[in-house]
Amino acid sequence: MTLPLPVSEHTIIPARTASEVWQQCLNILKDQVSTLSFKTWFQPVTPVRLAGKDLTIQVPSQFFYDWLEEHYNALIRDTIMAVLGEDARLFYAISADNPEPASAAPEIAPPQAVEQHRPFAPHVALRSENMLAVRDNLNPRYTFDNFIKGDCNQLARAAAMAVANNPGGTSFNPLVVYGGTGLGKTHLMHALGNHALATGKAKRVIYVSSEKFTVDFVEAIQSDTLAEFSQFYRSMDLLIVDDIQFFAGKEKTQDNFFHTFNALQQMGKQIVLSSDVPPKELKGLDDRLISRFQCGLTADIQAPDLETRIAILQKKSQENGLELPQDVLEFIAANVTNNIRELEGCLISMLARASLESRELTIDLAKDVLRIVVHELRAPLTIEEIQRKVCEYYDLPVDLVRAKTRKQEVVVARQTAMFLAKELTNSSLKTIGLHFGGRDHSTVIHACQAVEENAKRDDAFRQQLERLRKRITMNA
Ligand code: ADP
Ligand code: MG
Repeated sequence: MTLPLPVSEHTIIPARTASEVWQQCLNILKDQVSTLSFKTWFQPVTPVRLAGKDLTIQVPSQFFYDWLEEHYNALIRDTIMAVLGEDARLFYAISADNPEPASAAPEIAPPQAVEQHRPFAPHVALRSENMLAVRDNLNPRYTFDNFIKGDCNQLARAAAMAVANNPGGTSFNPLVVYGGTGLGKTHLMHALGNHALATGKAKRVIYVSSEKFTVDFVEAIQSDTLAEFSQFYRSMDLLIVDDIQFFAGKEKTQDNFFHTFNALQQMGKQIVLSSDVPPKELKGLDDRLISRFQCGLTADIQAPDLETRIAILQKKSQENGLELPQDVLEFIAANVTNNIRELEGCLISMLARASLESRELTIDLAKDVLRIVVHELRAPLTIEEIQRKVCEYYDLPVDLVRAKTRKQEVVVARQTAMFLAKELTNSSLKTIGLHFGGRDHSTVIHACQAVEENAKRDDAFRQQLERLRKRITMNA
């Protein structure tokens, strides 16, 4: 007979290495930032040492360090705490100045070579002096000031400001902001919360993602603290829940949220929600919740138009202390059309490459960066796909653009498709011609010129072209 082994009171955690810990961090970080930012800012980091809960990571340069600190401090902090626990500390080492990039793997910095040695700032941000202090989760970087106004977000922004100035006091309760990914919902949620808090219009404010709400709810059940959990959320003046589509299928959480929602609304407190689709299209959510969501104001955010994209890029580069030449701004804005996070990704990548490779901020660099972005973020467009989308738009059978017909509406569609194929794929004029019933390259040149001239002369046509381009590039 064997006796059971004595069980220690403390759970024994197997020792982990710096690499394992950092890998776990990377797994979390990769879902929090764009692919491009991830590659640019997190993959080049080397884990150096783990001593207890002190993790040291090495970054390639001072600029790199400054950038991480400035832009990802909170994210890295939260991630490391999630992996190592609340008392974790992070130290940075900067690779010793090294004019030639080392061909071998970088030497791990010995302790004395560590130039920067900076642990976290205190974790809990308490903004209120009194006993009601709440950790609000608000990111102070997201404000109304740095949220660029455009046709695409006018209603959502105006509604958010109205609510921030008078939480619970407008008929916009709940305020639901919906729109595609990377279009500014989260930014607007934080801006609203920050403004209400800063102006004292709301004292108790909390921002949570629906996922965080769900996790906390489950934990509260497990630790038998459901009463505290409910009490906490019901004590808010302003409750902001981001990405409510992730409540889908989580019935118990939805049930709890439903009661929280009702309790807050009855007390005249403000609720603000965001979603990737309009409330009535939310799948896997209880009908009674959906009908609650619809009783205030629902405002959408659309993809930004060219002017707004330029303005956003301008603002973001200024925030980073840089003046991008106008032609570079316009080039990026013209080519990255459907998502503001991608726009930012390009900018960040430009800055990173400019700094790491000592290159000027020119169109050439922008082209290089875009090639990666376009390559990474979407599958390459095919000429067939462009033909299909264009014909769909003009309501023509796709065979016609490849046939000989010279009917006016077919000619317009054919030329437009050729033009877009030239613009949006890397195909040669010859290849494009071949896809259009074996026409030769001079026909394609002629088509491109015709479309350009037409777009210059005719506003309606130009708008059509822009809409089509958007449909094709957004794969809508
Ligand atoms: P979503 O939550 O809709 O996916 P985010 O709010 O995270 O999008 O926005 C993605 C990035 O784009 C953020 O860095 C945000 O600051 C920026 N952004 C979005 N809209 C605007 C805007 N109108 N002005 C300035 N920056 C914006
Ligand atoms: Mg978001």
